[in-house]
Amino acid sequence: MSRKKITHEDGFQGTLLLISPEHALDRQPERRSLVPAVENCPDILLERTAARMLKQTLSEVGAGGRIAVVSGYRPHQEQVDIWEDTLQKEGETFTRTYVAKPGHSEHESGLAIDLAEQRESIDFICPAFPRTGICQRFRRAAPFRGFVERYPAGKERVTGIGAEPWHFRYVGYPHSMIMTRDGMVLEEYLQFLKTETSPDRPYCYEEDGVRIHICYLPLDEWEGRELTWPDTFPALLSGTNEGGLVLTCWGGWYA
Ligand SMILES: [Zn+2]
Repeated sequence: MSRKKITHEDGFQGTLLLISPEHALDRQPERRSLVPAVENCPDILLERTAARMLKQTLSEVGAGGRIAVVSGYRPHQEQVDIWEDTLQKEGETFTRTYVAKPGHSEHESGLAIDLAEQRESIDFICPAFPRTGICQRFRRAAPFRGFVERYPAGKERVTGIGAEPWHFRYVGYPHSMIMTRDGMVLEEYLQFLKTETSPDRPYCYEEDGVRIHICYLPLDEWEGRELTWPDTFPALLSGTNEGGLVLTCWGGWYA
């Protein structure tokens, strides 16, 4: 059996962290977990697995220089600078719509990437990433590698952020597939898991004959307790940054 004692920290690390106007990022990622998002951009960093999946997706769709990475991991101070600079240049309404408040930006987690269609001039705050051609091909392929379009049009009231067709968030597979298929943003997906699942009643996602079970664990209930599951089933645990954990189990269920 694999065993894992749940700690308070577990609730604040992983790929499913909710970072939003209401939920500040609890801790900065470790620098050693950050790597260049793509080969030729050493300054734009991303969490290691997210970077690997981004490179795979770009390669699979044949992006070959037609998609540019604009912004990945931002240290807290950089988000402060962007916020203040945008506020000065564009005013408060624009800034509040398109720039996350320092401490509340997914970019500070290393799990978000802004992409642009390669053009002569690229807008840093609102890059063009149209729903046509290579950009749309990337958008369609992204969920298979764990990415979601995080701020879709029509969900502004849920996310508290204006539509950002260029901003992709790594949440991990198969969460990305479920969210995209069912049109759920991260806020809605976590709410769904929270209300509809438990260790006795996991959600089952099935693709190509592989069953993946997912369930939500309230942190206050699980902190200090030990989670066990059969070694034969690879499992991943992610905090949600909103008081919970999500357990994802491949191939079977431990309960
Ligand atoms: Zn972004």
